[in-house]
Amino acid sequence: MTHIEVDESRCDGFGFCEQAAPDVFGLDDDGLVTVRLPRIPDELTDKAEAATRACPVAALRVVR
Ligand code: SF4
Repeated sequence: MTHIEVDESRCDGFGFCEQAAPDVFGLDDDGLVTVRLPRIPDELTDKAEAATRACPVAALRVVR
């Protein structure tokens, strides 16, 4: 099943991922990305992929 890989060393906390897919991504107390769902349901996959493209530092990857 689909999930998200995060390269936490790259995240700079812009929050574009959360804006693009708030059901999938959030920001922690330090303003860095957290993934809300361990598995991405089919209906959120397109949004999750759009969010990975929105990340300016390429910290996110959708893995199928
Ligand atoms: S868009 Fe990229 S850099 Fe910004 S919070 Fe999300 S993962 Fe981090």
